[in-house]
Amino acid sequence: MSDEYIPKIAMTFQAHPDDQEFSVGGTLAKWAKAGCEIISVVITSGDSGSNDPSKDASYKPILAELREKEQLAANQVLGIKETIFLRYPDGELEPTIPLRKELTRLIRKYKPDTVLTGNPEGWFYGNEYLNHPDHRAAAQAACTAVFPSAGSRLIFADLLPAGYEPHDPKRLYVHGTDKADTWVDITETLDIKIKALQQHVSQVPVDEVGKWMTEWAEEEAKDKEMKYAESYKVMILKKDEEEKVG
Ligand SMILES: [Zn+2]
Repeated sequence: MSDEYIPKIAMTFQAHPDDQEFSVGGTLAKWAKAGCEIISVVITSGDSGSNDPSKDASYKPILAELREKEQLAANQVLGIKETIFLRYPDGELEPTIPLRKELTRLIRKYKPDTVLTGNPEGWFYGNEYLNHPDHRAAAQAACTAVFPSAGSRLIFADLLPAGYEPHDPKRLYVHGTDKADTWVDITETLDIKIKALQQHVSQVPVDEVGKWMTEWAEEEAKDKEMKYAESYKVMILKKDEEEKVG
């Protein structure tokens, strides 16, 4: 089904700088244009994202700083005003209870109605991409923070005296799944997605990425009534008041 839903407050959880742009950038640009407030949470700062033989561990903080700047520039292109860097080590992410708690705290703080993240079950994409384990870890931590932790009063009960009351997001958008059931038409924001990706100069071949993204978005939109799309499995955890009938 195609999707015209526009959240009021959306929160994205991604493992690395640039993950968000590759996966959900067109959707976020569309929602931002329609007035949605978006909070972008980047769990690692991508400090292992270089195989330059002249670099060693001393380069990691420099690379992290550079990649945070690239992410901020990308978020500006997408229309995202709030970016949170959690600075976990890149390449070593696990879906731990402390990470789940941190994401729970952020959901309770910002009260998004919609959360976007990756697919915690994603291992193999085609025959060429073995999914990065940080992507699964980030996705698992995000999904388990959305349910049950964010809305359950007595889970992480020490968040209560700190002022973080329970909050239930209404929708969870999971990208990178072959169980997609929802297609967001990004025909009008594909150019913004590409421009956002091109801010990640240290990671992305700036001249070629537009072609890839156009091909991906075309493939996603195949047999749908749209030219370019991003696809999701959408969990509707709580219905909007107006959708409740009788
Ligand atoms: Zn990544």
